[in-house]
Formats: sequence, C-alpha cells, structure tokens
Amino acid sequence: MRTRFDLTQADIPKQWYNLLADLPEPLPPPLHPGTKQPVPPEALLAIFPENLVQQEMCPDRFVEIPEAVREIYALWRPTPLLRAVRFEKALQTPAHIYYKYEGVSPAGSHKVNTSVAQAYFNKIAGTKRLATETGAGQWGSSLALACKLFDLECTVYMVKVSYQQKPYRRMLMHTWGATVHPSPSDQTNYGRKLLAEDPNCQGSLGIAISEAIEDTVTHPHTKYSLGSVLNHVCLHQTVIGLEALKQMELAGEEPDALFGCCGGGSNFAGLVFPFLHKKIREGKKYRIVGVEPTACPSMTKGELRYDFGDTAETTPLLMMYTLGHKFMPPPIHAGGLRYHGMSPLVSHALKLRLIEAEAYHQTEVFERATLFARTEGIVPAPESAHAIAAVAAEALRAREAGQKRVILFNLSGHGLLDLSAYESFLNGKLQDV
Ligand SMILES: *Cc1c(COP(=O)(O)O)cnc(C)c1O
Repeated sequence: MRTRFDLTQADIPKQWYNLLADLPEPLPPPLHPGTKQPVPPEALLAIFPENLVQQEMCPDRFVEIPEAVREIYALWRPTPLLRAVRFEKALQTPAHIYYKYEGVSPAGSHKVNTSVAQAYFNKIAGTKRLATETGAGQWGSSLALACKLFDLECTVYMVKVSYQQKPYRRMLMHTWGATVHPSPSDQTNYGRKLLAEDPNCQGSLGIAISEAIEDTVTHPHTKYSLGSVLNHVCLHQTVIGLEALKQMELAGEEPDALFGCCGGGSNFAGLVFPFLHKKIREGKKYRIVGVEPTACPSMTKGELRYDFGDTAETTPLLMMYTLGHKFMPPPIHAGGLRYHGMSPLVSHALKLRLIEAEAYHQTEVFERATLFARTEGIVPAPESAHAIAAVAAEALRAREAGQKRVILFNLSGHGLLDLSAYESFLNGKLQDV
C-alpha cells in the first residue's frame, strides 16, 4: 500500500497564498496604543523593512516566492506527506490519518519557511542585522540559520530559563553564528530594569520580545523579526498547505478534518489556509481545528479583544484571542505554545467560525505522542504532539461511529531536542497544570 506521497523540487510552490484576500469580513487593523487609531504603515518601518510591511497588509491572493528563497527551500522542501497506517492500526480506527512532516528541515521545524523569507526580504532592503526573541530556541535557531545563509548578523534574546535548561538549541544558534543573550539581559534598558527588581527573573517570551524590539530601535541597520502571529509569517507558512493540497491529490483522498497545534498560530495557518481558500470559495465542508494546551488556552478560554503582543507594551495593539499580555504561562514542555495571544488571522477565522479550537492536557498529549513514536517512528515535538492528541480523539470518535474519516494534520517538528520532556513523561513525572 502506498503510504508516502512525494513531490519534486519543481513542485515547490511559486507563490504563497494570502487568506486576507478571501476573508468574508475584513480583518480589524492593528491600532496605535495611544491614539487607538489604525497604525500607519510608516510607523512599522522602525522595526520592519518596507517590503515586509507591504506583505503584512497585502490585498493580493497570491504573492510570488522569490527564486532565491525557493532555492533554499529546496534544501528540505517539498516536505513529505505520509499516511500513518501503523498509528491508525494501533488506534483500531477506520479513519485514514495523513500528516505533513515539517521536521525534515535543518532546524527541525516549520519555522525556517518564514525565517528564510524574512532574511531574504531584509537583505534586499539593506538590513545588516536582525534582532529577535526565542523561547525554547526553535525560532532563534531558524533565524540564525537564515541569517547565515543571507550573510546577516543575528542577535537572539532567549528566555533565561530555557537558555540555562535547554542548551542544545542555544548551541545550534552558536553553530549557525548568532549572538545569544539570556533574557532579561543587561543589553537593554528594559532588561536592566527587570534585573534590578529581581536578579533571578527567569524571563518570558513577552519580556524577550520587548528586549529584541528595544535592541532594534537603538541599533543602526537593525530590524526586528517575529517567528509567528503576524500576517506575513502566516503567509510564508502556506507553502505547507499548498504542497499538501497536491499531495492529498496524489493520495486520491480529500481530508474531512484538519488539525494543527497553535502557539502563535503560524504552522496551523500554514497547513490550513490553502484549504480555507477552498472552504470559503468552493464551499468545501472541512472541519478545521486549532489545538492548544489547556495550560495556555488563548482560543478556548481567552477573550477576543485588542491587546499588546509583548509584556512591556511596545507593540501595536492586535485584535486577537488573548489571555492578557501580563499572563505568565506555566512551564509546560511545549515551549512554543506558551504565548498569551493568537495570530489575528487565526483569531478572525475562529470568530467567523471557519475554524474551531480544542485544548488538551500535556499528559494526554505525551501519551498519544509516545504511541505515535512507537508506531510511526518519528518522535514529535511537544508542540506538534498537541495536534496528535486531537487527531487521536477524532480517530477514536470515527471508530465509535464506525465511520471512515480522512484526517490531515501538520507534524510541525521533531522532538529530538526535547527528549527530556519524554523522559519526564516516561518516568511518570509529568504533571497537568
Ligand atoms: C514554534 C513551534 C510551534 C508553535 O508556533 P506556531 O506559530 O503556532 O506554529 C509549533 N510547533 C513547533 C515544532 C514549533 O517549533
């Protein structure tokens, strides 16, 4: 039986898909926190290059992928689409479960799809140096690689607790030539202020974003780069879904239900937005589900309102599902899902009921992920494992109903640098928070 559906280099998409063009209601714009008026594009030029600001607000349905970006994509794209027959068998489900595997990238996750694009657009805009933040290091390492490939300097503010406890991605960033500071750091006024108040402050993603933005506006030729949430990031990730559409055709099936884990929303957006295009324009009936941790439940327990993207209140206000920008998520193992907000595009799709959201506890998540590893071989990233928990629940419902369902999910990354989380689970030390 055929279980793997591969494309060739020529099939790497030539355009990204922009959901903004198909929304039945326009997306509420980012607001200036002082005036509460829409932020003029010029205001964003302090931190982003003009070409990416244009993409952020671009009305076109398709946006050309530069050849230089496609050539780098070819190092790992097109990524495989596989059918998880052994996982299906273990669940004793009549459902067919397909997954798009983004863990084959050099950094081990989908994040390089946008870091390479952002580094390219910064390079041609004359940027010399990029500053960013990272939690457990997936985004920092992805940007470090992209900067090296386009000969840009890269400075990363890494949440201190991860800097100390998760050394391997820090080492990856160093290998790819980036400068890495534990955040809060002594490099910025905001970091120094926090350290003076509490020298043992462990940091958070919101704090690290504030530091990276301060670094950007206080250094010449420097721009800021964000690994999720924003429209242009979701845009770049749509290569995932565009490839998956072709691969499901090769498999001769159409998904009934699609799943992706959601931190800031970008890998989910990347898989499902091209399918949303068909749902909106061709009336397809896909059930599309974003999956989050119960410990950081922005979509299932948060409010839809304008909120800051960072702790120090330096970003514009974004209309999104949020737990509040002061929310300190508990230290669950899926570091990439510990963000207080959700991409405005994903939030808007949820509000319009084009998609749904579910939340899972981390013990159930690791149980399903371990079953996946033991049947399919791949050890999923703890983030991606959330999608697997929701897929297993869907597959078991299909079993109860005696119904063949075709399920597609995004396996956004591998967990080979997160094995300590699996060890905690296997030792029975993992707890729900
Ligand atoms: C960062 C990360 C996520 C969460 O970020 P999104 O923007 O929601 O995709 C999910 N999976 C992996 C493997 C990650 O590295």
